[in-house]
Amino acid sequence: MNTRLSLSRRPAALAAISAALVLLASSGCSRQLPSQYFRLLSFGTLVELEIIGVDQKKAREAYQSLQEDFDFMHRTWHAWEPGPLGRVNQAIAAGRAIAAPPSVLPLIRISQDLARKSDYLFDPGIGKLVELWGFHNSDLKPHAPPSAEAIAAIVGQHPSIRDVHLDGFHLSCDNPAVKLDFGAIGKGYGIDRAIERLKALGITDAIVNAGGDLRAIGSRAGNPWRIAIRDPDGGGIFALLSVTGDESVFTSGNYERNFTWEGKFFHHIIDPRTGYPAVGTASVTVLHPDATTADAAATALFVAGPKDWYRIARQMGIKFVLLIDTEGEAYMNPAMQKRVELQKPVPKIHVSKPL
Ligand code: AMP
Ligand code: MG
Repeated sequence: MNTRLSLSRRPAALAAISAALVLLASSGCSRQLPSQYFRLLSFGTLVELEIIGVDQKKAREAYQSLQEDFDFMHRTWHAWEPGPLGRVNQAIAAGRAIAAPPSVLPLIRISQDLARKSDYLFDPGIGKLVELWGFHNSDLKPHAPPSAEAIAAIVGQHPSIRDVHLDGFHLSCDNPAVKLDFGAIGKGYGIDRAIERLKALGITDAIVNAGGDLRAIGSRAGNPWRIAIRDPDGGGIFALLSVTGDESVFTSGNYERNFTWEGKFFHHIIDPRTGYPAVGTASVTVLHPDATTADAAATALFVAGPKDWYRIARQMGIKFVLLIDTEGEAYMNPAMQKRVELQKPVPKIHVSKPL
């Protein structure tokens, strides 16, 4: 698949799906601190890169290495196209132990840790359920949801990433119902690697934004990065916030991948306990230093929902959460409330105890 995208061919649809938009026009950059802006396609979305304060040659070098890195990561961790993860999944399904590809091992390890802290509400071992719901498809069309029996047959086998055992490179799994799908964490892990790469190149002020999920380092020529959080209802702007230093903003939303069948709405974030799309949440935005944790946590808190997000956020060490439920009500912790600038009337705001 050609993942490159020229400036002129940027599809409007991709721009529209962004959960959070970086407000590029919010602050100008002086001549001494030029701003270089690049984009590419990866992880099924538009990845935007803005680098401040380096010359064009250096910025282009950074862009090119990120392009190679993203191409590699996209291929390596793709949930349904052939590649290293596909080989791991084949071995698991066949009950065979394998020497795990080094490109996949760290992602499994870190996912196991985050899954445990989320009480397995974030669980990349549930790929079979995601597939059953028809989300292992680049061209998602309306279709009948799976039968209750088919869902129960998988849920009854309790597939979980905790069933995967690692001993050095040696990977075994005692549950053939497990299928690894890193859709809920891969983008965050990839953005962390991209930021590492930029830092290694001596870049101190930059933002990597993949379809609205992002990590920013430094500042935008002395100004904070201004981030817009999408309104899950209608796609306008729900809130604005400022980011400086080194911070990631990740949103899981029911508007990202979904279909409607016979008037019923089905989205892509599955509750591993029931096997059905998680109920009650429209979107969750998490701020956290690293993007990997932010990505996994946004998914976990989406599943946890309005009643349980606080407990799971504490377990995962998350300090800033905004959850919007399917009624449009907002839930946040006091520190998050201080940072968000709401852009629309909200029917009710529930502020939790401090995290
Ligand atoms: P995100 O947009 O980061 O919340 O990730 C959603 C994607 O992760 C889905 O498209 C699935 O591929 C996968 N997924 C769905 N539900 C879960 C879950 N409960 N835990 C882990 N991954 C999930
Ligand atoms: Mg996620």
